[in-house]
Amino acid sequence: METAEGPGRLSPSQLQARDRSGLLIVSALVAILGLFGYLFWGGYGSSHREALSTANNLATVLTTTIEAALDRAQSDLRVFVPQITAEDLAGQVSPARRADIEARMGNHLRSFAAVLNYRVFDAQGQTIFGAGSVNPHASFSVADRAWFKQLHDDPDRDLVVSEVVIGKGTLDQTVIVAVPIRDGERHLRGAVNASVNLAYFQSLIDSLDIGPDGLVAVRRTDDLRLILRRPAQVDMVNTAVAKGGLTGVLRSGRSAGEGDFPSGVDNVVRTYAFRILHGYSVAVIVAVAVDDYLAPWRKQAALGGTAAVTLILALVVLHRRQERVRARLRAMNRRLQLVLEAAAEGIVEIDAGYRVVLANPVAAETLGWPSVEAMVGMESHEALGHLLADGRSCVEGICSIRQTLQDGQTRRVFDECFRDAANGTPVPVEYVVSTQMVGGASDGAVVVFHDIRERKLAEEKLNRVVEDLRRSEAALRAAGARLRMVLETAAEGIVGIDDESRIIFANPAAAHILGWPSPEAMLGEPSPEILGHRLADGRACREGCCPIVATLRDGETRRIANESFKGRNGTVLPVEYVVAALEVAGVVIGAIVAFHDITERRGLEEELQRSNAELEQFAYVASHDLRQPLRMVSSYLGLIERKLGAVLDEDTRTFMDFAVGGAKRMDRLILDLLEYSRIGKARQPVPVPLAEAAAIALNNLTVAVGEANAEIVVAEGLPTVAGNPMELTRLFQNLIGNALKYRAPERQARIEIGCRHGRHEWLISVMDNGIGIAPADRERAFGIFQRLVPQEEYEGTGIGLAICRKIVEHHGGRIWIEAAEGGGSTFLFTLRDGSIVAVT
Ligand code: ADP
Repeated sequence: METAEGPGRLSPSQLQARDRSGLLIVSALVAILGLFGYLFWGGYGSSHREALSTANNLATVLTTTIEAALDRAQSDLRVFVPQITAEDLAGQVSPARRADIEARMGNHLRSFAAVLNYRVFDAQGQTIFGAGSVNPHASFSVADRAWFKQLHDDPDRDLVVSEVVIGKGTLDQTVIVAVPIRDGERHLRGAVNASVNLAYFQSLIDSLDIGPDGLVAVRRTDDLRLILRRPAQVDMVNTAVAKGGLTGVLRSGRSAGEGDFPSGVDNVVRTYAFRILHGYSVAVIVAVAVDDYLAPWRKQAALGGTAAVTLILALVVLHRRQERVRARLRAMNRRLQLVLEAAAEGIVEIDAGYRVVLANPVAAETLGWPSVEAMVGMESHEALGHLLADGRSCVEGICSIRQTLQDGQTRRVFDECFRDAANGTPVPVEYVVSTQMVGGASDGAVVVFHDIRERKLAEEKLNRVVEDLRRSEAALRAAGARLRMVLETAAEGIVGIDDESRIIFANPAAAHILGWPSPEAMLGEPSPEILGHRLADGRACREGCCPIVATLRDGETRRIANESFKGRNGTVLPVEYVVAALEVAGVVIGAIVAFHDITERRGLEEELQRSNAELEQFAYVASHDLRQPLRMVSSYLGLIERKLGAVLDEDTRTFMDFAVGGAKRMDRLILDLLEYSRIGKARQPVPVPLAEAAAIALNNLTVAVGEANAEIVVAEGLPTVAGNPMELTRLFQNLIGNALKYRAPERQARIEIGCRHGRHEWLISVMDNGIGIAPADRERAFGIFQRLVPQEEYEGTGIGLAICRKIVEHHGGRIWIEAAEGGGSTFLFTLRDGSIVAVT
């Protein structure tokens, strides 16, 4: 049964065709049965009619023939009666007379085969004359015969037809037809009779064509006794019919009749026709056996029936075969439907008129149709929204689907698009279109397609990746070349070591610094021996904790400033080096050591330190010494003012104030300079919790914080770093102090101290919402005596940030300014995580 609604079901036309064929077969069956019935009943009817008509015709012919014979015999007898005289009857017959009468009688019998003999009898029944073919001159008496008695006893009777008797003259079966010779008083004086030739009539009825089971009977109607019969049956002669359908009819008094009855004798059903002889109580009955007249019809019917049955059987077989084919078709249809539904590809069938006849759910979904049914019946280019590779619609250009429908070639297309009916966007597809040619013409095509959007995207992505890779490769090659160049030309010695501390590469500078003839000569050797590495405390690397080994272990980059390598010739080379891990996929496979000989720099540094110390000494002494005369200038100016106070005019007093102010400011500047020169003096770093340093700084600034009514936020988690507590407190104090001083008058001052841990260092920030610093001034602000605002508006010496930079750098960090949100400034500085390298 076709139940499923779906793309794979039988199409309406297929279903109609199926119904039509079933109907056709049923109609054919009905028609055959009808025709057969018609022929059967028609054949039966006509056979029956023919049988009746045969029986009737024969009965008529026979009746007429017998009637005519009896009439002629009777008429002959009545011709004889007046010729018979009283003398003849009295037995006084001369031979001449006899000869004359018998000759006349004999003349009547000529060519009259129905009668055997004519005889004349006297009143006692004794023969007088006789003529005929059988013993004409036999002498006998018929006084004992019933027919004679009837004539004798019944004066009104003038004709008798006897039952079948054995003729006394003929000595054979005969029927006597007799007429009386009466006197005026109707007394019987004699009789004339005729012996009917039953054999003649028997052969007459035997010659009738009434079929093998046909029946002819000639019976008396008064007592129904048999006279003649075909087939002849001697023992039945003179017997009456006791039963049978005909008895009643014969007795009914009708002169003729017909009907189908079973025979009272042999029970065979026959079609009867009978006639009563006019003027004689004799009936002629002709019957044709149903079996006989139906024989040809039966033959015909049997033939027709066989043909019909054969035809019906053929139709049934055909129908069954069709059913089997249909069942197979249905199964195929179901499988097709399953395939269509399960297919990952879109499948669309198009008829020769370019209309969609079938589609599967994937096709509808891919092309944005609400259902498969929405596509069916549509023009294919409309349903698919087919766009050619050049972007034209398929109706404008050469469409592969149309071509295939025309030439039957299967085509595979990779670069065309269908369209999403829901949103009109093109859907790049790959499709195969194939067709089946029937008699040189295509009866439709099947398009199997799949959406290659994702593949296209993946391809594009892949192309981009390949392109990126190509660029990266080129960049890598360029970088490699640059790196080689850098390695070749670098003044720094660079060596690579593997995870077992063996040298795997070295640049010319490394060979040169360490006194090797070539970099190649160093390869494969253990690095501690090649480098002759000694730690800061002078121990050989193997004996202590070697930073290079540590990096190989933990992958951390280390910058070392105070260790030494040994030249090939045994010279100790103070070096500064950076060791960084070589990692592949997070696994340390070796390390790079970049080093330079700092012998020269050491000398310069020592020189610098010496001169710095001298300079500091000088600055200190100079400051001290400068402050002495400055104090004298101030105090003498004070004395002058007190002494001349009363006489001094306003202008002079103002000038005096300027001079005192200038001296104070000079003192301030000298003090600041002294402080600046002292930074970095303390050599031993100690752990300094920054939170503590910030808290002390804030405490020192309590008054200023109060004046500014500032909101201060200090983040949790400020680190503890190795350094100088006084300097770090000073650092916070200067930055927070500036933030309070350079606050924006229009908003409440807000200062936020934060921190963040980077890879190897801490990043500390001091953010305010004050007047801000223009980007161009941010570097300049750190210079000594650099001020960005007028002295009249904001008091200061312009050295605070210079001190901050010196403190930060002294602790191995950097300091810079960024803009803060809302117009303020953020001061950021880094502090090295771990030991602080003293750099003066
Ligand atoms: P001083 O504050 O004594 O002028 P500094 O060296 O501390 O000297 O600062 C240098 C200059 O940087 C200041 O004159 C000021 O113009 C600018 N400045 C410093 N801190 C800030 C700040 N938080 N907001 C705005 N400007 C600042």
